[in-house]
Amino acid sequence: MAFDPELATRAWMATLNGAARAKSDAYFEGGYWLILWGALVAIAVDLVLLRFGWAAALSARVTRFTRRRGVQSWLFAIVYLLVTALMALPWTIYTRFFRERHYGLLNQDFAAWGSEQLLALTLSSLAVALLFTGIHAAIRRSPRGWWIGATAITIAGIAFFVAIAPLYVEPLFNKYVPLPDGPVRSAVLSMARANGVPADNVFLVDASRQTDRISANVAGLGGTTRIALNDNLMKQPADEIRAVMAHELGHYVLNHGPKMIIAFTLIVAVVFLVLSIALPWMLARFGPRWRVTSLDDPAILPIVSILVTIIGVLLTPATNTLIRTQEMEADRFGLNAARAPESFASIAMKLSQYRKIEPGPIEEALFFDHPSGHTRVLTAMRWKAEHLDQPDVR
Ligand SMILES: [Zn+2]
Repeated sequence: MAFDPELATRAWMATLNGAARAKSDAYFEGGYWLILWGALVAIAVDLVLLRFGWAAALSARVTRFTRRRGVQSWLFAIVYLLVTALMALPWTIYTRFFRERHYGLLNQDFAAWGSEQLLALTLSSLAVALLFTGIHAAIRRSPRGWWIGATAITIAGIAFFVAIAPLYVEPLFNKYVPLPDGPVRSAVLSMARANGVPADNVFLVDASRQTDRISANVAGLGGTTRIALNDNLMKQPADEIRAVMAHELGHYVLNHGPKMIIAFTLIVAVVFLVLSIALPWMLARFGPRWRVTSLDDPAILPIVSILVTIIGVLLTPATNTLIRTQEMEADRFGLNAARAPESFASIAMKLSQYRKIEPGPIEEALFFDHPSGHTRVLTAMRWKAEHLDQPDVR
């Protein structure tokens, strides 16, 4: 009897059902609403700061504190970021701690989780405040054409962060060690050599400290690029690890990192262009009530935040699709390199413990930053159907 990829996919789908499927669907579908509610929480916090004059008061304070414009912007941003994080804390604790614990996706207790959040908040506040200082300087220098300078500063900042993160940021949260000797290491390194990926560059990360999620990733840029798999993946059968690592090598070989930087440069440019038109309008319309009337004022930050939040929600389907398209390419590359379609399908099923397995096509286009389990299994089964006569295909 001929092998039918559709039927084979249906057979795989039937292995996830009942309570387990209901749970992963509920977790993922709840995430759709979190995008909207998260944006509303952020906007509400900004509106409180503006409406009660707290942003204007903070701006007056930092202006009295120092005459240096750059320092004013930086200080305002630091205080703003810490205050807004504090105001949104109940939301953060519910969504990132209790909700994750409820679905069994977080292994940390509150103390361990909280101290990691604090470290992340400290680092991100320092970085974002620095970014705002640069953007605000560009705004003051050129009130109309600032979006070009702001784009350059933002992309340079993102590229710098992506490049240094594997060396200086990620080790603060997890331990990365070279993948130990053994069949997995030699299989991964063999695929790496076969596909022109620097061969000593595979790391193992202790992600099980935080979660049971199976994962691997390509991080860094240029010379700092590093391929890592987590210890949850390491516990899976060897062919499934090969299938995942072949996908990760695909990101490397297909230059997904640099391509994503180019794509995000365009997106960031559009966002700042919209801001350069919308900000003066917001200031004219609401500025007098909020006591923020000039682009020079650091207190424009909460207004920028409101606009960026709204644009961010509207852009979510586009950024998801951008990333999902690369993931799909890496899936196909991985199938060709690992030649283990059943193992890839098996891993796709395991990943569906936190990703809805069979969304509708529009749902997948809007909300999925990776292909759904169904799409991945079908891709693997179609690949298998075309390689049935080849003895090395497992
Ligand atoms: Zn990927």
